[in-house]
Amino acid sequence: MADLKVGVLALQGDFAAHTDILRRLGAEPREVRTPADMDRLDALVIPGGESTTIGKMIESAGLETALRAHFEQGRPILGTCAGLIVTDADHLGFIDATAKRNAFGRQLQSFEADLEVEGAGDEPLRAVFIRAPWVERHGAGVEVLASYKGHPVAIREGNVLACAFHPELTDDPRFHAIFMAMATAARERAGEEAKA
Ligand code: GLN
Repeated sequence: MADLKVGVLALQGDFAAHTDILRRLGAEPREVRTPADMDRLDALVIPGGESTTIGKMIESAGLETALRAHFEQGRPILGTCAGLIVTDADHLGFIDATAKRNAFGRQLQSFEADLEVEGAGDEPLRAVFIRAPWVERHGAGVEVLASYKGHPVAIREGNVLACAFHPELTDDPRFHAIFMAMATAARERAGEEAKA
């Protein structure tokens, strides 16, 4: 589907790299700063940055209601790094999991690793971690797509996909491709429901 409208929350953090990859994958990216920007989005990315700041800015921009409506309508959401924290059960509650902030500690503030990612094919995916969280706890309905040193770092529940690393900072679009497939499927479903 060439014209999927994918919003990228552009309040703080590294949203521009996400819009580039989404465009490369054939989507129509849109930077989201106000509730009106959320109108008729097929999917939304909550990028990395600083989760406390992003949370506060969602509040001050009056975006929480629009984000919840998007989630409740079954429109896909991708949270990366700080975005994983913002979507977790202690924050917006879009996924039945809790992230531990800066989990890799001082020695491992930033690093890269090759991950096996469910749904991304056999080739390992190079992942960039920057003061990354990991998933401390998750419910039975949450699928773990990738782990690093025994800690889940990519998870999915229903229409919500989240990862602890920065898939927008490498040239490899496979993680975003998983998200685009979710967005395509969700839009097809919505189209069928509208016809029924
Ligand atoms: N450490 C940041 C936080 O806790 C997340 C870092 C990132 O998004 N790269 O919000």
